[in-house]
Amino acid sequence: MLVTLNEVLKDAQKNKYAVGLFNTVNLEMARGVIAAAEETNSPVIIGTAEVLLPYAGLEELASLLVPMAKKASVPVVLHFDHGLTPEMIIKSMVLGFSSVMYDCSTGSFEENIEKCREMKTIAKSFGASIEAELGHVGSAAANAAEADGHDGIYTDPDEAKEFVERTQVDALAIAIGTAHGVYKSKPVLNLEILKEIAAMTSTPLVLHGGSGLSDEDFRNCIQSGISKVNIFTDINCAAAKAAAESYRDGCGMTDLMGNIVQAVKTVAMEKMKIFGCTNKG
Ligand SMILES: [Zn+2]
Repeated sequence: MLVTLNEVLKDAQKNKYAVGLFNTVNLEMARGVIAAAEETNSPVIIGTAEVLLPYAGLEELASLLVPMAKKASVPVVLHFDHGLTPEMIIKSMVLGFSSVMYDCSTGSFEENIEKCREMKTIAKSFGASIEAELGHVGSAAANAAEADGHDGIYTDPDEAKEFVERTQVDALAIAIGTAHGVYKSKPVLNLEILKEIAAMTSTPLVLHGGSGLSDEDFRNCIQSGISKVNIFTDINCAAAKAAAESYRDGCGMTDLMGNIVQAVKTVAMEKMKIFGCTNKG
């Protein structure tokens, strides 16, 4: 069934588990994620991000994901991740997405608040939930290039408190040392900042850049207050590897599809078990 973040993250926050967001760009990835959720009886968040639209347009992907979410036996949030432009965010909700993220994290604190507050009103009119980001979760490549330390990119707890009070967003992505993409070196997670933010706000907190973290990292983050974890790179790489390993001379696309679905499903199920969301569907 199609639901919003509010129907899945409140319970996750209360009972200290996390729900995974798995971004997808085609039918095989989507089928793998939904199959993983149904087999483990897990709530799940599925979607795409604005930077992924060159791989699958919003209309085309929505025409696959909306019916899949509605038909699923578990709660499925259809989420537009890292929306960058109001046009695309609104379009996603018109097409049936039940949740959006408005990423204004590169702007100033006041700009971020102003824009997210406005978008919250629009999302509410669609009955959709909204996630914002405070403190910037950069790319792994860019972070590795930084000379020293991550101090500048950690979310400030006082700002987080003020931000959620003023915007009333339904979920907040925070920067505690993770990055997007493939890590060059082991990320240093700041759990103290996470605990402080969790104690000061009642809004469910989101960890971006989850691909490549250790099981222990995930457990520590979830125990310290993370209720949603974003995964893309891990299932993206698993799908590509399955396609390459399944290919034989003379075989066709249809010979590869089953193994791609299975590979995505396997990785998604592993994550759901680590996140503790199995049998919460
Ligand atoms: Zn992200």
